[in-house]
Amino acid sequence: MVNDKGYYGEFGGAFIPEMLYPNVEELRRCYVEVSESDDFQKDFRRLLKDYVGRPSPLYLAERLSEHYQTNIYLKREDLNHTGAHKINNTIGQILMAQRLGKKRIIAETGAGQHGVATATVCALMGVECIVYMGEVDIERQAPNVGRMKMLGAEVRPATSGSKTLKDATNEAIRDWINNPEDTHYIIGSVVGPHPYPDMVARFQSVISEEMLWQLEEQTGKEDPDIIVACVGGGSNAAGSYYHYLNKENVRLIAVEAAGMGIHSGESAATSVLGTKGVIHGSRTLLMQTEDGQIIEPYSISAGLDYPGIGPMHAHLIDTGRAEAISITDEDAVKAAFFLARTEGIIPALETAHAFAALDVLEYRKDDIIVINLSGRGDKDLAIFSKYFDQHE
Ligand SMILES: *Cc1c(COP(=O)(O)O)cnc(C)c1O
Repeated sequence: MVNDKGYYGEFGGAFIPEMLYPNVEELRRCYVEVSESDDFQKDFRRLLKDYVGRPSPLYLAERLSEHYQTNIYLKREDLNHTGAHKINNTIGQILMAQRLGKKRIIAETGAGQHGVATATVCALMGVECIVYMGEVDIERQAPNVGRMKMLGAEVRPATSGSKTLKDATNEAIRDWINNPEDTHYIIGSVVGPHPYPDMVARFQSVISEEMLWQLEEQTGKEDPDIIVACVGGGSNAAGSYYHYLNKENVRLIAVEAAGMGIHSGESAATSVLGTKGVIHGSRTLLMQTEDGQIIEPYSISAGLDYPGIGPMHAHLIDTGRAEAISITDEDAVKAAFFLARTEGIIPALETAHAFAALDVLEYRKDDIIVINLSGRGDKDLAIFSKYFDQHE
C-alpha cells in the first residue's frame, strides 16, 4: 500500500530534522531487504513460535456469538508473552537493530506496555535499553515501571510539557539525534517517519497471516466478513487487516476511544476530531488547535490515549476502506465486564473498546466477525475494580 517515499495516498512521508536523516535513511534503505532475508526470517519465526508462543489461537466465542446472534471469533493476542501484540513488533525490531550493528536501544512509552515489550527483547538479546516515559505516566503506571526495571531497563522520566507520551517521544528523538551511530529507536506503533509505519505493519502482519489459515481450518474459508480492532496508533489493527487490505469483501472496523464523549473535550477520537497535519514525523490526522498546537487526548485506556493515528489508518478511513467507530470509557468498561463474565477472558481496556463496537456495528446473522483481542486486562484491574459495585 505504501509508495517508496512512505505515502499512503496523501498521508505518511518522513518529516524529520536534518540531524536524524542518516539514521532514518539507513533504516529505509535496509528494512525490506533485511526483514525478507532467509536469515532474518529464520530467527523471527523461531522467536515468535518458541518465545512469544505463536501462533496465537483463533477462538470461536460461543456464548458471545449466541448473545449477539452472529459468529464471533477472537484472535488471542492476549496470550502472547508479555500479554499483548506489541511483542511481535519489538522482536522484529531488535533483530533489525542487530543486523544494523546497533548496540543501544531507546524507546518511548505511555502506559508502559511498549516499554515492557522493548525491555523484554533487550534482556533477551543482552543489549542496553533506555525507555523514556512521562513523569506523570511513571506515577500512573507503576507496575509497568517495575517490570521494566526488573528486566534491566533504565526508565528515564520526561519532565517537560504535559509529562506524558508526546513528551517522552520528544525526549527519545532528542536522544537519537545525539547518538546516531550506535542507537536504534524502537517505535511501538504504526506511527513515526517512513519506514516505521510500514515496517511495524509488516512485523504485526503475522496476525492476519495466521488468521487466513486458521479461518480456513475452522470455517472452510479464509475470509471473515468483518475484522474489528481498536486503534491507538494502529499497530494491532494494521496487523489484523494486513492480508485482507485488498480483499474488498472484508469490512475493516477501526475502533477509537471517545473518552467521556466525542465532543466532550475529553476524547481521543482522532478520525472524527482530527485534521491533517504533521506529528512525530509523518503527515496524518491529528487533534490540533487552529494554529497547530496538539490537543491533549484523553481516554481511560492509556494505550488509546494518543493525539494522532498512523498514516495507513488515516488513508484507510479517508478513502472509506475502513469504517471508524468511537466508543466511550463507560461503554468500554461495560464491554470488558461482559466479556469477562461471558467467556472468562479479561481484556485490556484498549481491547474492550473493540468489543463495545459489537453494540453499534451492523452485521448479519451468518457473518463471521473476527475481533483482534490485542491484550489482556491484568494491568487494568485497578481501574476495573472501581466499577465492581456497578457490576455485581
Ligand atoms: C498499546 C496497545 C494498544 C494500542 O496500540 P495500537 O498500536 O493501536 O495497537 C491496543 N491494545 C493493547 C492491548 C495495547 O497494549
